[in-house]
Amino acid sequence: MSLKTRILGLAALLLVAAGTASWLAYQELSRGIIERWGEQVAEIQVRYDSARLLQSLEREIGLARQMAQSSTLIQWAKNPNTPGLTDRAIRQMESFRSNFEDNSYFVALRKNNHYYFNDAADTYAGAQFRYVLNAEKPDDAWFFQLIEEGRDFHLNVNPDTELGVTKLWIDVLMRDEQQNIVGMVGTGLNLDEFLRDIVDIGQKGITTLFVDYNGAIQLYRDRNYIDFASLIKPEGQKNTVDLLFDEPEDKQQILGMLQLLKQRNGESGAVETGFVSVDGRKHLAGVAFLPAIGWFEITLLDLETLIPQSYLWPLIAVFLVSLLIVLLVFHQIIQSRILRPVIGLEGAVKQLRDGNFNHPYLPRPDNEIGRLVDHFEKMSATLRDTTRELEEKVADRTEELHRLARVDALTGLKNRRGLDEVIHEQIQRAERENTGFGLLWLDIDHFKEINDQLGHQAGDDILCRVALWLRAAVRPYDHPGRWGGDEFVVLLSPCDLETLEQIAARIRANVEAESQRSGTAITISVGGYFCQPGETLDTLLRNADQALYEAKDAGRNRVRILAAKGKATNTSGQI
Ligand code: GH3
Ligand code: MG
Repeated sequence: MSLKTRILGLAALLLVAAGTASWLAYQELSRGIIERWGEQVAEIQVRYDSARLLQSLEREIGLARQMAQSSTLIQWAKNPNTPGLTDRAIRQMESFRSNFEDNSYFVALRKNNHYYFNDAADTYAGAQFRYVLNAEKPDDAWFFQLIEEGRDFHLNVNPDTELGVTKLWIDVLMRDEQQNIVGMVGTGLNLDEFLRDIVDIGQKGITTLFVDYNGAIQLYRDRNYIDFASLIKPEGQKNTVDLLFDEPEDKQQILGMLQLLKQRNGESGAVETGFVSVDGRKHLAGVAFLPAIGWFEITLLDLETLIPQSYLWPLIAVFLVSLLIVLLVFHQIIQSRILRPVIGLEGAVKQLRDGNFNHPYLPRPDNEIGRLVDHFEKMSATLRDTTRELEEKVADRTEELHRLARVDALTGLKNRRGLDEVIHEQIQRAERENTGFGLLWLDIDHFKEINDQLGHQAGDDILCRVALWLRAAVRPYDHPGRWGGDEFVVLLSPCDLETLEQIAARIRANVEAESQRSGTAITISVGGYFCQPGETLDTLLRNADQALYEAKDAGRNRVRILAAKGKATNTSGQI
């Protein structure tokens, strides 16, 4: 797997790992934030809802208390049959009616169980006495129960079947100067309106309900759950708040919170919060006790509706996009600072391995790889220079060897191979240019004897001297050489027959004269052949050799020239 694939794979792995970790962290973090926020909101909401309820009831409760303290009504309640008192009492009631929010009131007398009522439409004008409460009737039980309990103030949600209305009743006991209970007064608030204004106010995700001291549901947007007339119901038959919750532990929790708040007995601002499940959705419940009315206020916050986790999705999107950008930048940096230089370097190393020193430009980042590229380039340059130097040396040596292979070691003249080459070239040139050329074949006379008499070394010296005299006797562009032993060959070109004869004679005379001067007189015999274009090496060597043979045969120290036509010339020595 290439480095690039590995790095890309690693980057992808990092992205997945970081994405997963971020998602988990985001889930945990957002849950934590929402829960902490929810707890605070729950507390605020509970206080707000409680305040709204109390505010709307406060005035009604005050008025009801005022009504209960009316001396006219108290006197009348004590003596309901006293003539004239009833009319005064009714007038008094009617004066309160217009002040109540609902423009309705009720008055119930303990002495004769008479129940008086009038509503906003003044429906019962002149007939405010509605009926006689009956302790045996379940609908009337509230009256007798409240008097028995002796609670001065009570809120009660109750349908009045006689009157055909369901109201939130505010009941206040009426006592005489001796604190004896003489009756009960109060007003009712239209339950539907009250629920709409106070309980079901359409705040999405927020549910408000009120339960009484025993946990029975009093005000709730769903009337089916409201525990109407809970006052007179025995325990176990009440619609208590735990009905709203699915899980047993949630029911326990809520009842526990009510218990706790009861013990704290309306400690100012005390609010309990906890998570519960309602209709399968997680809610945050806030509970407060309202000592003024003896009820609990419960607020349920549907956190997923109020602050869906999706609100925070842009956060994770921003995070992921930034992560992606960071990885892209990371990849780009790796690409430009590591991958590209390494790939370039690998290519250059391959080229160098194949003997190519001219690699393309290599990127050189300012890091270890850049330094590696530097070292490589220096190494490559040194290798290139050394290789060139070696190649030059090898070429020189080869040329030298080539030259040496064509030179006679003793005399420094061309050897047989060197002569072969130049004669061969000359044959071709002669044919090309259609010109003749000359070839001389020389042999020292009686050399064996010289060797025998003076020694081999002296013989060598003579061979060297003959070479010198030979060189001196020919033209610079002629090719003198040693064929082997005491035999020499000279190639003469350009040349004609006459020149051939002249030079042959000059060589012979030179050797004779110079050798005498040097102290060891020697002579040479010379055979010459004037070659024509088209003749082979073999022919011309054979002819030259033939001429030499003839010179030797004629007595030595003489020149014998042959030409292609068979014309021979004789040049004798001085002897
Ligand atoms: P001729 O007049 O017929 O040529 O008689 P010659 O004695 O010269 O006979 P030939 O040319 O056949 O003999 C050549 C002699 O040259 C034979 C050998 O002893 C001698 N010789 C050959 N090569 C060398 C050499 O490199 N150095 C020396 N000192 N002598 C050589
Ligand atoms: Mg000889």
